[in-house]
Amino acid sequence: MLRRLRAEAVEVRAPEQMEGLDGLVIPGGESTTMTRLIASAGLEPALHSHHEAGKPILGTCAGLIVCDADHLGLIDVTARRNAFGRQLQSFEADLEVTGAGEEPLRAVFIRAPWVERTGEGVEVLATWEGHPVAIRGDGVLATSFHPELTDDHRVHAIFMAMVTNAKDQDDEREAARG
Ligand code: GLN
Repeated sequence: MLRRLRAEAVEVRAPEQMEGLDGLVIPGGESTTMTRLIASAGLEPALHSHHEAGKPILGTCAGLIVCDADHLGLIDVTARRNAFGRQLQSFEADLEVTGAGEEPLRAVFIRAPWVERTGEGVEVLATWEGHPVAIRGDGVLATSFHPELTDDHRVHAIFMAMVTNAKDQDDEREAARG
């Protein structure tokens, strides 16, 4: 998805691979395992420096949970795991997403979380049945669903715009420093 948007995409499994990244995607999976692996790989300090340097992060599904206030604390929200319950483990829905234009976006939810609490400065970009499922704040864009599982690249495009903006701001700061 990122390559289609002309980004150079690499896989990150170790802290040293985070050097020189302009943005980071924390994908879906299983948040408990991912949190444990992030800790055992020693990725936490690198993730926090990335975030503190103003570099954007896209968290999807379990990636949203990993970013929340109860885990890495990269965005001030609280996620509720497997929130849609047993009947609705996996489903698709058409969402209106702020910043993605008029056309509804087909979203694939797989044992998805929803956002239970949003802190100050967190923007809700999409809801499903009253629950926030796409949010943005403090350089973090996060979705309950899997935007990489359809052909629609609009969520990734929003993320790429955040990355480009952050890069431009960084270049300006650099230039001002002389
Ligand atoms: N249910 C998983 C969790 O709680 C998330 C599932 C996913 O990423 N598709 O971590």
